[in-house]
Amino acid sequence: MANTDFPLIFDRSKEGRTGYSFPEFDVPEFNLENEFEDSYIRKEAPDLPEVSELEIMRHYTALSKRNYGVDSGFYPLGSCTMKYNPKINEDIARLDGFSHIHPHQDPKSVQGAMEMMYDLQTSLREITGMHEVSLQPAAGAQGEWTGLMMIRAFHEANGDYNRTKVIVPDSAHGTNPASAKVAGFDAVTVKSNDKGLVDLEDLKRVVGKDTAALMLTNPNTLGLFETEILEMAEIIHGAGGKLYYDGANLNAIMGYTRPGDMGFDVVHLNLHKTFTGPHGGGGPGSGPVGVSSELAAYLPKPLLVKKDNLYTFDYDRPDSIGRVKPYYGNFGINLRAYTYIRTMGAEGLKKVSEYAVINANYMMRKLEKEYVLPYQQHCKHEFVISGKKQKKLGVRTLDIAKRLLDYGYHPPTIYFPINVEEAMMVEPTETESKETLDGFIGTMMKISDEAKYNPELVQEAPFNTVVKRMDETTAARKPILRYDK
Ligand SMILES: *Cc1c(COP(=O)(O)O)cnc(C)c1O
Repeated sequence: MANTDFPLIFDRSKEGRTGYSFPEFDVPEFNLENEFEDSYIRKEAPDLPEVSELEIMRHYTALSKRNYGVDSGFYPLGSCTMKYNPKINEDIARLDGFSHIHPHQDPKSVQGAMEMMYDLQTSLREITGMHEVSLQPAAGAQGEWTGLMMIRAFHEANGDYNRTKVIVPDSAHGTNPASAKVAGFDAVTVKSNDKGLVDLEDLKRVVGKDTAALMLTNPNTLGLFETEILEMAEIIHGAGGKLYYDGANLNAIMGYTRPGDMGFDVVHLNLHKTFTGPHGGGGPGSGPVGVSSELAAYLPKPLLVKKDNLYTFDYDRPDSIGRVKPYYGNFGINLRAYTYIRTMGAEGLKKVSEYAVINANYMMRKLEKEYVLPYQQHCKHEFVISGKKQKKLGVRTLDIAKRLLDYGYHPPTIYFPINVEEAMMVEPTETESKETLDGFIGTMMKISDEAKYNPELVQEAPFNTVVKRMDETTAARKPILRYDK
């Protein structure tokens, strides 16, 4: 069981021990020092651990067993779409023609890979209803920034230099105001109404000649579909602003409605969420952007185009905001998304949204019996409940999350969104069975009982994990990322 003294690979090191054997030299030895400038040559061998093959296997196998992922259990981390990543994606991504090519290769020699990218662009255009798509951005947040830079370029091309503000609802994903700031705008908050949706009166109050855009997370971070989008579009477009759709969580609407049809000018998608790119641990991701015809000229370059039956990269795009990433996007993640789209088909993708929404509503209505549900309408792919009833018993949402670890679950997102007290944001995803959903619901009910009859137990959880409560603030503020003897 729990071994808190888990030695680092460096601690296992014994001088002279090796995990490799090289054949005898059969070429003359070459003295680097005679050939190259002194400064290039490392004087001492790097300080690497010296261990046998068996030891290294045991070390990493033991570490891997401590890991938790979608392949090991239920992972309802709200807003992250930790759904199953089909293994056929991995088979396809490992095909030689995809995995053994180089971005510097002559485009004529990699037409198949380029055709895949082009077809993916076409599929994403169709799914979003946008005019043109770029696969370059490597994450949702980078897609947001790319979209805002295009909006800035559009306004500046019209001589409109005073549009310095981006309106962001208080129910937006946290990256939205951050991206606005990084793109050089001021983020202006618009409030939610008592239904948890954008307050149109407040929107009318903040909109003006200085509005560059509205960034809308839809469904918003409460998992609620914004019902007054057409009115918002009229208000923003009427004031000369642009409409940005944060489509990171497209799994809620895919196949049913499209940002392009709602009047949005820019949208980004998270292929690593909705379209099954494996993620967690920081990447790699893919956050393609789609734009209306009015903004197409500003897309990052090069743009992949088809000319005379040949796929080429078009660099001749004078109005482009330029490159946002070396090469052509995270090819491997884009390829997995393409595989997913092709295996699911249009009807399959529609079913994804259907089941994602049904699963979330099923779970929400069951949990509502013991946990406070702040907004009563049906949710989309995720929902937010509050632990404020349990808090009165001395059990905080953090305690509930820690107790879930004892029962073998990854906890939901907690304390977000910030407009809900003791928030728990739950996203079951469409890939889970009813039995799994019922198992989690039962555990949440059990923890609610524990909070009533044995609150200390929940307050002191977890008991069954390798490490107990960590000092998360210090870990975030003073991360120590390297081994020092
Ligand atoms: C995850 C998410 C993002 C950010 O995506 P990253 O790939 O993590 O940068 C943005 N908006 C929403 C709604 C999200 O769920």
